[in-house]
Amino acid sequence: MGTVNSSFFASPYKLSMFLECPRKYWYYYINEETKYKQPEHPYFTMGGHVHDTLKNFFNLDVKFRSKEKILELLETFWKRKSGREGGFESKEEEEHYKGRARKMLVKFFDNGDIKAKPILWHSQSNPKVEVTPSLFFTGVFDRIDVLPRDVLHVIDYKTGKEDAVDERNIQLPMYAVLAERIFRKPVTQVSYLNLESGRWDTRGLEKGYAFDTIGRVQEIVAKIPKSSEKEDFICGYKDRCFHCNYLKELGFNLE
Ligand code: SF4
Repeated sequence: MGTVNSSFFASPYKLSMFLECPRKYWYYYINEETKYKQPEHPYFTMGGHVHDTLKNFFNLDVKFRSKEKILELLETFWKRKSGREGGFESKEEEEHYKGRARKMLVKFFDNGDIKAKPILWHSQSNPKVEVTPSLFFTGVFDRIDVLPRDVLHVIDYKTGKEDAVDERNIQLPMYAVLAERIFRKPVTQVSYLNLESGRWDTRGLEKGYAFDTIGRVQEIVAKIPKSSEKEDFICGYKDRCFHCNYLKELGFNLE
């Protein structure tokens, strides 16, 4: 159940899924049959392609970063997963999402700092850091910039209104702790960049935020049942939520 030798690997995604619905968490992280199974969905396919495009765009030398190049990269990634494989029901639907992706990237190119030199692009994509003897933080960074005075700025891209809202303000502080421990430099700023609106939501970090973040994560982890029994992971919404119906579509018996 995400524990190895009684260690727990906590990512913002994993914690938010447990907080949203413990049963959903059980299906996704514990039950072998349904573990890590997700249906393809146009929004997630689009988001994945936009993230991959930006990541590869910043891998290019500054002199090669052009608007044509960013759109060319999008085309390359789009070809790797499209049509039914990407969860698109029709050509029209796919064109709609591709149009959204293009607009986001053009807006980013026109308004963003395309000369930025983020770090981490060739490094491990799923880092793990031990924050207490039994707790690891893990997660996937979108971007980390080095600011003057050799401090870090952790940036997470959001691709639109469908992205989950981080109500508990846990994602960016967790990434900041991860980044500080990996790069051994202080993180002074964390941001969400909404690529659809072009809006930055930037915050500074309070002194002692790391201690506070680790404590808040420990509190959430303590609520996760130690058993792997389905009945211990209670579906709070009962028949008012149909999220898990996709598992039926994938052929699983949810009873
Ligand atoms: S359908 Fe039930 S188990 Fe699935 S996410 Fe909704 S409330 Fe949770």
